Amino acid sequence: MLKKPDWIKTTLLAGPKRKFVDNILKDAGLHTVCQEASCPNMCECYSKKTATFLIMGNRCTRNCAFCNVHSGKPLAPDPAEPAKVADAIKKLGLKHAVITSVTRDDLEDGGASCFAQTITLVRKNTPGVIIEVLIPDFKGEEGALVSVLKAGPHVLNHNIETILRLYPQVRPTADYGRSLKLLLRSKSLYPSVNTKSGLMVGMGESEEEVLETLGDLRMSGCDYLTIGQYLTPSREHYPVKEYVHPSIFERYRKRGLEMGFKNVASAPLVRSSYQAEALFIE
Ligand code: SF4
Repeated sequence: MLKKPDWIKTTLLAGPKRKFVDNILKDAGLHTVCQEASCPNMCECYSKKTATFLIMGNRCTRNCAFCNVHSGKPLAPDPAEPAKVADAIKKLGLKHAVITSVTRDDLEDGGASCFAQTITLVRKNTPGVIIEVLIPDFKGEEGALVSVLKAGPHVLNHNIETILRLYPQVRPTADYGRSLKLLLRSKSLYPSVNTKSGLMVGMGESEEEVLETLGDLRMSGCDYLTIGQYLTPSREHYPVKEYVHPSIFERYRKRGLEMGFKNVASAPLVRSSYQAEALFIE
C-alpha cells in the first residue's frame, strides 16, 4: 500500500456538536454514509452538525471494488424511515440535506418510491431546506428516475465515480453510459432540477481521461461536480494507485469551471456530499 502523503490529513475533532449528531441518529436508528463508508471527513462534518443520510438500510445489493458499504441481502425498507429522516433534518437544523441510499436492485422500483416519500416528508417538515438526493442508477429505469424527480428535489446527484476504462475493475455491475444517460434524462425531463456528479481520482486514470469524463458529464447536462482522492477502505478493496497532488486537483477545478460547470469542488478530501451547501449556488 502506498504511504499517505502529508496533504491527506483529517481532523479528529470530537466535541459536543459531534455528540449531538450522533445522538439524534442513534435515537432514530438512522444510518449515514459518513459512517458506513468510513468517510475521512466524518469528524469535521458531524462537528458542523451535518451528515449524509443513508436510507433503505446499510446492506448494498452490489459489490463495487472501492466501496466500504457492506454488500449482502438487505432488509425490507422501514416504512417509518422517511418520517425519521425528516424529523432528524429538522432537529439538526440543516439548511441543505443530502440523502442517499445503498443500491437496492432487489426492489421493483430500485427504492425510488422511498426517495420520493422522504423528499415529500422533508419538504413538509422543513419547507425551506434544500434537498439533494444522491441516487443509484435504478438500472436505467426511467420511471424510477421520474418518480424521484416528481417529488421535487433541488439537486439530483448521481456519481460517475471513475473513468470509463476502469469500470470493469472498479464498478463491474454499473455502466458508464447508463450513468451519463441518467443525468441527461434528468436534465431533459426536469431542466430546473440541478444535476451533480462526482468522481474519485488516484485509481490509475490519466489526466486526459479525467478531462474526457468531465467533458462527458458536461455533455450530459451536469451542473455541479466534485472530485476527490480515492482512499482504499482495506487491503481487500481496489488499491490506491496514486496520491494525486493538490495542484492537479486545482487544475481539474479550473478546467471544470471553464467547461461550464456551475461550481466544482476538487481537492484531496472532497467527497460527493462534502460541504454540499457551500458548493450549491442557485
Ligand atoms: S463528506 Fe459527506 S459522507 Fe463524508 S462525513 Fe461529510 S457529509 Fe458525511
